Amino acid sequence: MKRKIGFIGLGIMGRPMAKNLLKAGYPLVVFDLNKDAIGELVRAGAIAASSSKEVAERTEVIITMLPDSPEVKEVIMGKDGVMEGVKPGSVVIDMSSINPLMSQEIEKELKKKGVEMLDAPVSGGEPGAIQGTLAIMVGGQDKVFKECIEILKDMGKNIVRVGEIGAGGFTKLVNQIIVALNIAAVGEAFTLGVKAGLDPQTVYQAIRGGLAGSAVLDAKAPMIFERNFKPGFKVKLHLKDLNNALSTGKALGVPLPLSSFIQQIFVSLIVENRGEEDHSALATFFEKMGRAEIK
Ligand code: NAD
Repeated sequence: MKRKIGFIGLGIMGRPMAKNLLKAGYPLVVFDLNKDAIGELVRAGAIAASSSKEVAERTEVIITMLPDSPEVKEVIMGKDGVMEGVKPGSVVIDMSSINPLMSQEIEKELKKKGVEMLDAPVSGGEPGAIQGTLAIMVGGQDKVFKECIEILKDMGKNIVRVGEIGAGGFTKLVNQIIVALNIAAVGEAFTLGVKAGLDPQTVYQAIRGGLAGSAVLDAKAPMIFERNFKPGFKVKLHLKDLNNALSTGKALGVPLPLSSFIQQIFVSLIVENRGEEDHSALATFFEKMGRAEIK
């Protein structure tokens, strides 16, 4: 008998992840502030709840996929939150990318209710969420991880337990620094290329098989060439991740000069009102400086 799963946060990522759980045959209870998102999941076979508390009352494994730490704290510990409805023996799996220090704080509170927690952020974007091929980096007790691995396998492919609670979030910060710096490198380098009169598509084909090739190059270069900045992964969310990286860097005494530079470029995009665009829009900062367009 499949365990009853609750899913809170049905945005770009949460919606397809929840649909994959339905396809795998789990009974699913869902909640989001956005009623349209709930409606879409109900049409796919889920049961609607009217609060996070109700999701927790009606399920045994509660998955959250929310923007950032304040939303996860609110949904779990706030009014009508998970904590008010959750039963001892349940498991909370937070798959959002949040400050790992917050995951540790939330786990402590859940433990007082006899509830276990995993922090399990993902990488692979919307396509990975739709195809069920996300990379999932998990923090938490090994016993709980083993209990939940089959559920995670219905949403992802490369699933690794990286340590105790918070380790998933720290791993995701490592991931996000690498992704941000790569997009910036693509933007800077291709701006030089087009200014030199090269065709970006031809340059891409020439370099993608060599050492400069990467998952970032394959995913983002075509978007930049097509001027398609529809998210995907929003600028405002990547800024949030770099803010979390910088604050944990500060707490741990680690200078992050490159991340701090890219963080400021993301701030400049927010000032331009482009927070809802895909993070590949980072390239346009370099285009503006070089007065060229990569297309
Ligand atoms: P999104 O903004 O599309 O979705 C967030 C959802 O949470 C929205 O539907 C919103 O209505 C809901 N929500 C917010 N506050 C809520 C509350 N209090 N109660 C109930 N629902 C609430 O974001 P997303 O792109 O799906 O990202 C979710 C998380 O996954 C983020 O932490 C992000 O950094 C991470 N992530 C995103 C991607 C990507 O490519 N989009 C990739 C990897 C990781």
